[in-house]
Amino acid sequence: MSDIFDNTIICKNCDVEMKKVQFIRNGFTFRAVQCMKCNNRILHPQDKIDYEHYSQLRNKTYSVKLRMVGNSYSVSIPKEIVNFINEQNKIMDELVSLSFERMGKLSLNFQNFEENIKQIEEDEKEKHHG
Ligand SMILES: [Zn+2]
Repeated sequence: MSDIFDNTIICKNCDVEMKKVQFIRNGFTFRAVQCMKCNNRILHPQDKIDYEHYSQLRNKTYSVKLRMVGNSYSVSIPKEIVNFINEQNKIMDELVSLSFERMGKLSLNFQNFEENIKQIEEDEKEKHHG
């Protein structure tokens, strides 16, 4: 199946070809096309759907059990979160970093994902300079 963005998209206001752009909102990367004349922007339809899903997941609070496994404690990460990260990230890194953020709060970092975001942000910067 071909992607809608593989086609030439013309701005209905200006009658000029729209350019492919990427932007990040709340850590989520959107594909979009933008008219360089009037700045009219069209989001990729799939990304629009995925972002809604992302917002739903971000607003959810799960209650998970802390279990003793050997000398460590273990918690289960809900499958829907990991699946979503996997879908967005394409490759899953089994090694995640964990830090004691502050009293009462731990954070997990999916390394690969962070690196990808950084990469995209740098790409964006380069585009703006060039
Ligand atoms: Zn336009």
